[in-house]
Amino acid sequence: TAAESTNAGTPGTPGPGNSLTPTGRSVLVTGGNRGIGLAVARSLAARGDRVAVTYRTGEPPAGLFGVRCDVTDEAQVERAFKEVAAAQGEVEVLVANAGITRDGLLLALGDDAVDEVLDTNLRAVIRVARHAARAMLGGRWGRMVLISSAVAFTGSPGQTNYTAAKAALVGLARSLAWELGGRGITVNVVAPGLVETDMLREVRPARLEQYLAMTPLGRAGTADEVAAAVGFLSSEQASYVTGAVLPVSGGLGMGH
Ligand code: NDP
Repeated sequence: TAAESTNAGTPGTPGPGNSLTPTGRSVLVTGGNRGIGLAVARSLAARGDRVAVTYRTGEPPAGLFGVRCDVTDEAQVERAFKEVAAAQGEVEVLVANAGITRDGLLLALGDDAVDEVLDTNLRAVIRVARHAARAMLGGRWGRMVLISSAVAFTGSPGQTNYTAAKAALVGLARSLAWELGGRGITVNVVAPGLVETDMLREVRPARLEQYLAMTPLGRAGTADEVAAAVGFLSSEQASYVTGAVLPVSGGLGMGH
């Protein structure tokens, strides 16, 4: 049928028509070599998208196009976008996922811990969004999904740097939604709660218990559950959703 042929996706043709499951888009996931980013990358690739992931060391994950890139370095990001464009077309879907924690109570938090977290979790997101916007404007279609956190809304002792950066992504997404909306580009935020990845291993057990007690679903989520939300926001079905914050948190921090 016509719908099926549209669903097959046409490389280089962004946002195919009103297909319900457009595929074959050029996707870039930062920090897509493990954790949530890898789950997002795999799920979009399974739908037929052409997916590139950034990685910093070692080997890129099997079956995905890897570009070596530290997102805090403008020259590396510029090169990464060029490599992705050459390999699979200009980026049409950006998932800004790379992130770190360097926790500590404010009085003990050195400038290096503040700088590193703000550089990675905020300034680098602005940087990749700028490159992605350039890439998407020509095609008059695009999807950006920024990975924030439920603690951006609840606050979290010992995470002033992290929560400040993650909360800032909401303002960033909403300003960009205004700047790019006229060109068919949406910009949304996903705010995960506790998700089973390497990052969770750094959280103290007592703190984990507190978070779980604040989570109606009473468990940590999986990276695949976050990937499902990113998949929706990056899809054509989400064509009228922009500037939104979608919590994927088992109810942690709901109401914000
Ligand atoms: P992981 O620690 O498992 O993975 C982090 C990813 O970010 C890795 O791929 C890492 O690459 C990449 N990364 C970090 N710094 C850079 C950098 N400078 N340049 C390029 N890549 C970088 O974390 P998660 O998968 O758990 O987290 C993914 C996102 O989700 C983060 O933004 C995090 O803040 C957010 N989040 C996570 C939650 C959780 O409970 N897990 C909850 C709420 C939000 P490398 O392998 O090279 O280090």
